[in-house]
Amino acid sequence: MERQQEYVLRTIEDKGVRFVRLWFTDVVGQLKSVAIAPAELEEAFEEGIGFDGSSIQGMTRVYEDDMTVRPDAETFSILPWRGEDVPVARMFCDVLTRDNEPVRSDPRSILRRTLDKAADMGFSCFVHPEVEFYLFHPENDPNKEPVPIDNSSYFDHVTRSLAQNFRRDAILTLEDMGISVEFSHHEAGPGQNEIDLRSTDALRMADNVMTLKTVVEQIAIEQGVHASFMPKPLVNSPGNGMHTHFSLFEGDRPAFHDATGPGGLSRTGQKFVAGLLRHAREITAVTNQYVNSYKRLYSGDEAPSYVYWGPYSRSALVRVPAHSPNKPQSTRVEYRALDSAANPYLAFAVVLRAGLRGIERDYELPVPTETDVAFMSDLEREISGIEGLPSSLGEAVDLMKASELVAETLGEDCFDYFLRDKRHEWNVYHRQVTPFERTRFLPTC
Ligand code: GLU
Ligand code: MG
Ligand code: MG
Repeated sequence: MERQQEYVLRTIEDKGVRFVRLWFTDVVGQLKSVAIAPAELEEAFEEGIGFDGSSIQGMTRVYEDDMTVRPDAETFSILPWRGEDVPVARMFCDVLTRDNEPVRSDPRSILRRTLDKAADMGFSCFVHPEVEFYLFHPENDPNKEPVPIDNSSYFDHVTRSLAQNFRRDAILTLEDMGISVEFSHHEAGPGQNEIDLRSTDALRMADNVMTLKTVVEQIAIEQGVHASFMPKPLVNSPGNGMHTHFSLFEGDRPAFHDATGPGGLSRTGQKFVAGLLRHAREITAVTNQYVNSYKRLYSGDEAPSYVYWGPYSRSALVRVPAHSPNKPQSTRVEYRALDSAANPYLAFAVVLRAGLRGIERDYELPVPTETDVAFMSDLEREISGIEGLPSSLGEAVDLMKASELVAETLGEDCFDYFLRDKRHEWNVYHRQVTPFERTRFLPTC
């Protein structure tokens, strides 16, 4: 038994933990949880806990339905909101077949494969997301717009709100669970907030994003409000982006840093950005996986709609945030398409794979665009060679279907499932007759 596993067993005994929740994530990013008694844990570490995988979205082909989840002892944490009377802990798990092979469409294993690929190229991958979400009054009538809990805006100090200490409570809970928060603030939309997690390795960060969403939902329930990560919940207010910063390291050396390069980027950094730009359109179905995601992308409000980069531009798809030359390790690349409803494992995997492809194949970085592309005419954009991101899930799915890069990253099973599921979502959505159409086209008397 590994040392970390022994530490977990000891801690469980010392703290009197009564339930251990085993967490994993399905293909669409829904957190799954099965609780076991501490007595089962030793066996869970050795052999895993069996379950019927055919009922988990996208996880398996029917003939391989017996699966096991094996907890990753490194992810052990007590759940602070369950209290100290009956302590409950959790660990993220890897999903394995009955022959102890990783299930190829387990999102955690997909991201791990991408990170292995990066490691083969000599890189470790670090990630830092800015997670945006709304807080609404608790009533939930899908026929009405949700009502935000405050009327505040960007960086406002909110003195009166239905959930007064929301961010403080969420952040203290995350910190208790060992998840470091870099900063947090009120975002531009009414009731909209942002929590930025401190950079860490990509796999741990995907786990952390899943935990953050759970914590935010938990605190919302405690404070009698409704938290939403929906990409674009309000027609006239900004959407929930999850701008994500990526950086590669070769050993301890920040691989993106070169103070003399464009935007302070080394050749490696430039090729990585070139990869993001070249493959952006085909990975968008994964980074923006819902019909609603496309309403955010084309709404302005600092969400990107066009494929270009700029050292400073805030409407660019890729931005290189200003960083101090004395802190080369903070050189990073911000990919701004992701929204808060993405499956973080799959989204990080496809973005990293696109960047790595740029490095592998020596892509040339296009010149940066300094003007705001959203204000150009179609003709000006065409002349500048600037393409749009897909404008609907249907278009995104078509682009993904032809993508060898996404097929290779997700693996055949997940790729096929994802395409089928998203094509279905688009078709169902597309058939709807909306209140907008009724108001516009039906006679009023
Ligand atoms: N809410 C904006 C988006 O959906 C991002 C605002 C910002 O943090 O720059 O992408
Ligand atoms: Mg923001
Ligand atoms: Mg940002």
